[in-house]
Amino acid sequence: MNYWRDAPCIGQTELFYSRSKDAQLLAKRMCASCPHAVECLAMAEAQGEEYGTWGGKSFDRPNRSTKRCGVCQAEFVAEASAVKFCGDDCRATAKRAWDAEHKRKRRAERKAA
Ligand code: SF4
Ligand SMILES: [Zn+2]
Repeated sequence: MNYWRDAPCIGQTELFYSRSKDAQLLAKRMCASCPHAVECLAMAEAQGEEYGTWGGKSFDRPNRSTKRCGVCQAEFVAEASAVKFCGDDCRATAKRAWDAEHKRKRRAERKAA
């Protein structure tokens, strides 16, 4: 949403990515006063946006699902069914845990050998 510096949605990420109908209505009203609404909607359609309000239209396609992060337990919207963590930080935390677990197993195997 940072394509247009003068767009009313700048800094309104939460509102424009909300799934609440009230928030979406408010976001759509802001789009109605935006000079870029036509381009914005065309771009969202062209990019296959699945989520968020763009150019006066709220996208809420069911192939994105709300999940709980495997590390911090926060709810987040997964872009694909394989996504298990809310973001890069939690993904990195999970990877460190896997690496540590893997090393521990290798050490145990070496000891046993
Ligand atoms: S049309 Fe709506 S989403 Fe698009 S730039 Fe304008 S305010 Fe933002
Ligand atoms: Zn998380």
